Amino acid sequence: MRLLRRGDTPAHRYNGAMRPKPPPDYLAGYPPALVAQVNALIAQDQLGTVLRQRYPVAHTVRTDKALYDYVVALKHTHLRTAPPLSKVAFDSKLQVIAHALGTHTAISRVHGGKLKAKREIRVATVFRDMPPEFLRMIVVHELAHLRVRNHDKAFYQLCCHMEPAYPQYELDLRAYLCLLGAGGAPLWAAQPGSVD
Ligand SMILES: [Zn+2]
Repeated sequence: MRLLRRGDTPAHRYNGAMRPKPPPDYLAGYPPALVAQVNALIAQDQLGTVLRQRYPVAHTVRTDKALYDYVVALKHTHLRTAPPLSKVAFDSKLQVIAHALGTHTAISRVHGGKLKAKREIRVATVFRDMPPEFLRMIVVHELAHLRVRNHDKAFYQLCCHMEPAYPQYELDLRAYLCLLGAGGAPLWAAQPGSVD
């Protein structure tokens, strides 16, 4: 994402200590023309307007309990037979990086001689202040990992089965993360005075 890098001049390039870290390349793997389009919208200060028109409202899933209920309801609809979840939470320590938008872990523990897997889904706190479509996208993504470990064709087919607009939501979410990475202000920040 070269257009988003700051301080990327020869003078800075050889001064590793002073150079600001470039934002992660959230659009790695997308067609170059599409990446260029996103970068152009950011450079013209238009991406925020486009995203807010497409996704006008923030979701209302504010607490870990609300997130748990949301995830379990979605799982019940689409992945009823997948193993149960022991924990679902927003995680403020989770850094959203290019290839991991959330985390899913399966911790194996021995219980009375039997190996039991505890499954947890953690969603980065940045998803608290997002439109419902982006929350749905990340939850669908993590739920799909209950069945498919890798980001392969079967994985994305499962995501699209749960949310047909999944590819569009993922692209738009990644574009938004690029905007934040370039120093843009959050578009769906909670209203001052709202109760969490
Ligand atoms: Zn994944």
